[in-house]
Amino acid sequence: MSETVDVKENIRKVKENMKNACLKAGRNPEDTTLIAVTKTKPFEMLMEAYDAGVRDFGENKVQDLMAKFELAPKDSRFHMIGHLQKNKVKYLIGNVYLIHGVDSYELAEVIDKESKKKNVVTNILVEVNVAGEESKFGTTSKDAKDVVKKIASLPNVKVKGLMTIAPYVVNPEENRQYFVELRNLLIDINKENIDNISMDILSMGMTGDYCVACEEGATYVRVGTGIFGERDYGKENCK
Ligand SMILES: *Cc1c(COP(=O)(O)O)cnc(C)c1O
Repeated sequence: MSETVDVKENIRKVKENMKNACLKAGRNPEDTTLIAVTKTKPFEMLMEAYDAGVRDFGENKVQDLMAKFELAPKDSRFHMIGHLQKNKVKYLIGNVYLIHGVDSYELAEVIDKESKKKNVVTNILVEVNVAGEESKFGTTSKDAKDVVKKIASLPNVKVKGLMTIAPYVVNPEENRQYFVELRNLLIDINKENIDNISMDILSMGMTGDYCVACEEGATYVRVGTGIFGERDYGKENCK
């Protein structure tokens, strides 16, 4: 059972909301980019988003990202937004545009090693668990600076900014504090003038809270449900 989803209309609405949120906060709407999170959704839906002008796509599994990457038009940009296992890094390198969920120096080291083999520099974001939720990956806010500093020494990895997954809340205002904290963390770390580090990306905000995230400085928002409808994880088990 799948209800009809008007991808094009949903994208129009999300982009309009993003624009209004930016203007409300005195930001240039062009400084925030929509990542359409296509995880669990068929390639046809990705193409509907592509045809509506979206070029940035988010997946949380390496295999799914690669499958869609192979099929997608060449000007598409693929973002790895999920937790990344070290043994899968090699498949992504050279194909992924940005890896959002790097939460340890050890993972960055593997990305560096694989990037060297392919003679590329891979752009990453350090994931910070600003809300301190036990169920989530990410460095603590306290450790983020040291993790960035250590990663900065790796020649084939470039830290472009920070990412967070805020808690699931009914009222998005409850997450404003976390978006503010991530923004301040980015400013603090930039102030350190670490060699090889100049971060300008804040990846924050999902379907439930992307407007607040835009108001607080998001440069990428990651929206899935709000574009493609609910994900049906259950179906896979019933085949
Ligand atoms: C699934 C996912 C999203 C999109 O979530 P929605 O609530 O469906 O918009 C965003 N970011 C990450 C890291 C995700 O895993």
